[in-house]
Amino acid sequence: MAELSEPLENYLKEIYELEESKGVAKVVDLIEIFSISPGTISKALDRLESLGFIDRSSRRIKLTEDGKKLAVRLIRAHRLSERLLTDVLGLDWIRAHELAHRLEHIWPEDVLDKIDQITGRPKTCPHGHPIPGREGVKGTPLSNAKEGDYVVLMIIREVEWILRSAETIGLMPGVKISVLENQGDLVKIKISNKEFTIPRALAEQVMVS
Ligand SMILES: [Zn+2]
Ligand SMILES: [Zn+2]
Repeated sequence: MAELSEPLENYLKEIYELEESKGVAKVVDLIEIFSISPGTISKALDRLESLGFIDRSSRRIKLTEDGKKLAVRLIRAHRLSERLLTDVLGLDWIRAHELAHRLEHIWPEDVLDKIDQITGRPKTCPHGHPIPGREGVKGTPLSNAKEGDYVVLMIIREVEWILRSAETIGLMPGVKISVLENQGDLVKIKISNKEFTIPRALAEQVMVS
């Protein structure tokens, strides 16, 4: 399999994650996520296509089998790196995510297997995203949840303000919460007997079940 530059690997990974979360990856999503120009992304996609990692039809991008294989390897490396950084080294989940972006490109397969072992073969990264090959997580965004009791499964986008706001009120994977009110721009929730009102933009990024 051809060696890719880091930005190209990142696009591939993002395409995989968009397929995973939205069912389809579009050029406009990549432009928004990476804040790059249409010209830059189109050049990158041409390169990925000529290497046989993606297929393109109209505005939709699809990973080929080779593309999927590489994306899965990178995502596994990213999520296991995060586990190593939080569980073993004690870093917070914002820094762990940032550092994992670099580490995901360097681990050989046998070292990754060691990380998997030492972190107890985790099912998910610290933010709740499944390690490829292990069971997926199914839930609903908190923003769509009716009044009732839930467990937090995942923080969908690992963006600093989202992770920071979630952590501040203890809204983290595995935590039990109740939705008290869900109308308009705000969602009222209860976490271990404390009530919080959170913006809808944050609730959209929290998967519960
Ligand atoms: Zn991450
Ligand atoms: Zn993560």
